[in-house]
Amino acid sequence: MSRTRILILGGGYVGLYTALTLMRRAKDAVDVTVIDRRPYMTYAPFLPEAAAGSIEPRHAVVPLRRELKGARVLQGKVETIDHASRSVTATTDLGETLTLDYDHIVIALGAVSRTLPIPGLADFGLGFKYVEEAINLRNRVLGRIARAATTTDPALRRRLLTFVFVGGGFAGVEAFAETEDMARAALRYYPELKHDDLNFVMVEAMGRILPEMGPDMGAYTVTELERRGMRVLLETRLESCIDGHVALSNGEAFEADTVVWTAGVKPSPVIQSSDLPLGPRGHVNTAATLQVIDDSGIPLPGAWAAGDCAQVPNLVEGEGDWCAPSAQHAVRQAKHLGRNIAAHLAGRPLAEYKHKHLGVVASLGLNKGVASTMGIKLRGWPAWVMHRTYHLLAIPTFNRKARVALDWTAAVFFRRDLVSMGRLHEPRRAFEEAARS
Ligand SMILES: Cc1cc2nc3c(=O)[nH]c(=O)nc-3n(C[C@H](O)[C@H](O)[C@H](O)COP(=O)(O)OP(=O)(O)OC[C@H]3O[C@@H](n4cnc5c(N)ncnc54)[C@H](O)[C@@H]3O)c2cc1C
Repeated sequence: MSRTRILILGGGYVGLYTALTLMRRAKDAVDVTVIDRRPYMTYAPFLPEAAAGSIEPRHAVVPLRRELKGARVLQGKVETIDHASRSVTATTDLGETLTLDYDHIVIALGAVSRTLPIPGLADFGLGFKYVEEAINLRNRVLGRIARAATTTDPALRRRLLTFVFVGGGFAGVEAFAETEDMARAALRYYPELKHDDLNFVMVEAMGRILPEMGPDMGAYTVTELERRGMRVLLETRLESCIDGHVALSNGEAFEADTVVWTAGVKPSPVIQSSDLPLGPRGHVNTAATLQVIDDSGIPLPGAWAAGDCAQVPNLVEGEGDWCAPSAQHAVRQAKHLGRNIAAHLAGRPLAEYKHKHLGVVASLGLNKGVASTMGIKLRGWPAWVMHRTYHLLAIPTFNRKARVALDWTAAVFFRRDLVSMGRLHEPRRAFEEAARS
């Protein structure tokens, strides 16, 4: 009997867990192919700690080929999805085009940064979704501190030490707080600089941050960050940041060498040009069974989707509500999706996805955090311990759990590494200079 060809687009949370579930549940019935631009799954909740030097960035990713033995793993960028002819095209890093045919497709392409047409943002802003962006931010902040310590120009020093984060969701707040915590720790080695020289500014268009945690925890976090000398500007928008000249909607204007954009996500753009039915916000429309559905709610044979790129009904909240983009949903939806495909192939009925969100935990730097889970709200050290415990249990594979735990243990004895590897971003420079001399 020929095996059913399952093509999984994206090897993030949904891609990895769907493939693992399928290979466990329907091993002999399927040929699984996973394609992703990157050779690894990114454990995004650890990116703020990777940016802050508490975790080695390599340990915040899970290599796909190592974990998906028995599946075909391809590296390439998905360019087109033509479900009518059950065909996908992708380009490799070498520019070659791959054509991939399938029987069932799983859309697991996640989301990208949702930007606005703000002057200067596309040229000057930094994203914070991927491990390379976390590494870049860490090297940039530490590099700017080193430069600020050597310049005699006060205006340049102020610009180098001004770090603007736009967007106060939990990813933005964690990146903001963790990076400041690292910068403050780094000042220990720079007697030329004072803590007051650091200028960390968060800009949030709404009247609160951390909306996922409720108003009281958002207000507590603002107070906590301000107590540390950081500025949190609510009901304020970034109007422009051309070449680092930042202008805000409250009339403030100042120079900043670093602007990080963490103001939300939108579904991966490739699905816009596909022939799959999309919801009002550009997500792939799915039923609670995670089958892709058309505008009348009829499932498209052979098409499935989950995670940040999908609009999945939230059966806990009821009619008209959709599951929020979160790792918590993505993992559970992926396992559910894998089980449903296996059930479909075996001729069994499909089950509906239903999960009550357990809450959110966020780290605000070493020993500091906030948590709101199952009606329990924690602040400070207990929340931070809960954050670390939860994510250590949640990161896939024993290998990654052990490596992250060792990173944390080493930092207790030797303090975290606070050296900028900024030259990583121009690896040929030394050789070029040598060749020219
Ligand atoms: C900094 C940060 C912190 C977060 N912290 C938390 C947290 O604490 N708790 C929580 O619940 N959630 C958190 N999230 C959200 C969580 O990471 C996402 O909800 C989750 O990753 C969604 O899973 P996914 O599989 O849908 O997408 P992803 O995990 O993003 O996977 C999508 C994959 O598709 C690939 N891809 C995209 N386009 C293409 C293409 N054209 N061709 C090939 N491959 C492509 C990408 O490379 C990626 O590997 C955080 C997110 C960020 C950015």
